[in-house]
Amino acid sequence: MTSKPQIAVFWFRRDLRFSDNCGLFHALRSDLPVLPLFIFDKNILDPLPSRDARVTFIRHTLENMQNELSRQGRSLMVRYGRPSEIFKDLCQTYDIREVYTNHDYEPYAQKRDLEIETLLKKRNIDFRTFKDQVIFEKREILTRNDKPFTVYTPYRKTWQAHITPGDIAPYSSETMIKNFHKVEPQPMPTLAEMGFEPFDLYIPPIDPPEDILHRYDRQRDYPAISGTSRLGVHLRFGTVSVRRMVEKAMLFNDTWLSELVWREFFMMILANFPHVVDQPFNPKYAHIPWRDDNENFIRWCEGQTGYPIVDAGMRELNQTGFMHNRVRMITASFLTKHLLIDWRSGERYFAKKLLDYDLSANNGNWQWAAGCGCDAAPYFRIFNPYLQTERFDPDHTYIRKWVPEFEKPEYPQPIVEHKFARARALAVYGGALENYSRR
Ligand code: FAD
Repeated sequence: MTSKPQIAVFWFRRDLRFSDNCGLFHALRSDLPVLPLFIFDKNILDPLPSRDARVTFIRHTLENMQNELSRQGRSLMVRYGRPSEIFKDLCQTYDIREVYTNHDYEPYAQKRDLEIETLLKKRNIDFRTFKDQVIFEKREILTRNDKPFTVYTPYRKTWQAHITPGDIAPYSSETMIKNFHKVEPQPMPTLAEMGFEPFDLYIPPIDPPEDILHRYDRQRDYPAISGTSRLGVHLRFGTVSVRRMVEKAMLFNDTWLSELVWREFFMMILANFPHVVDQPFNPKYAHIPWRDDNENFIRWCEGQTGYPIVDAGMRELNQTGFMHNRVRMITASFLTKHLLIDWRSGERYFAKKLLDYDLSANNGNWQWAAGCGCDAAPYFRIFNPYLQTERFDPDHTYIRKWVPEFEKPEYPQPIVEHKFARARALAVYGGALENYSRR
């Protein structure tokens, strides 16, 4: 009987790159040959619609990684199934000594990792995980009373006071690819085999142009301009290293750095306050009597509200999987305040459509817009879509791009009158808070 090859496994998840990858660096430094593994997780994929921008993006990225490895005589193993079954199966073929991976803070991922860790432990296999997708995680940045921050500005100040060159030093994982175990290249599961159709994607460059970063603070609010980095998807799937981006931000633009810190703030909130996944951060807002009018919701989803800036945003999202940040704020405010529809419905819709969808950022920003999150916009500050348009799309360039029938007779009438909607939102939110304070 031939003995099974002794190996370590590196399990890629939200860190789809070979360079500056912390967990991969540690795996490749071990004494064992490393099997690089990616699992298309059925638990995640099964509920998704068949046209999903993210699945296309991941498949495309894995192909690039495979090509890079094959030039060095190595190969990535890509499997489709449930992680626990895949690991049991790999244990039949290999004598796995260690499994390396990077931390993931989302509730499903935590549950999955615990299950895999337990399964591996029973077989005497070490499960070693590392911080990679943020600079500071969980409870690394705390208030003076050792509590997680719940307000952004003091969090950012403490974050900036803590960061040292060591926190952004690169892990030179890309120089050790020869330490990968040699596996025969096997075909990757195709989109069709996994039940998906390809999505026509625009994949932004991994290196945001320097002129965009230089002018970020002046241009980021204008949706008609290419004034933001478009790095969301790359940060989401780890096709770039956050350490490299923070280094760039420190060189180029403080405002852009603040956005990267917002990303970490919401990840920290999710890790410390997991109830936010389906409850408002602030319990005062748990009993707002939402209207939840399904017809209104569908018109919002389809970009047919008769509010041009809202419709432009929703159509951009539906067609491309992206929406500009300013317009995300306007559309989210419109749904929760003008239409009084539960923020969780909007959050779910964005989660289905956004290529850069990230649970913590999406949830945190939706709660911010609805006024119920930590450090949220106060409920009585209601975005006026007309004033927002005057300020941020004054010549209607963005609107015309996505709403070709703008100002033509076929464009729908407003779904609700602005002044009436504003007064209704103030009354409903105000009433709910009053009831809460009387309990
Ligand atoms: P840039 O403006 O160039 O910013 C650089 C990076 O900083 C972004 O890629 C992102 O990683 C991070 N960032 C920027 N703004 C925020 C923010 N407000 N909160 C957290 N991180 C931020 N961002 C997501 O990454 N995923 C989401 O699912 C998501 N959902 C959102 C939902 C709503 C209702 C709103 C108002 C915002 C949401 N955002 C989300 C935040 C923001 O809109 C996007 O990160 C940004 O528009 C992406 O474009 P960019 O990559 O050009 O970002």
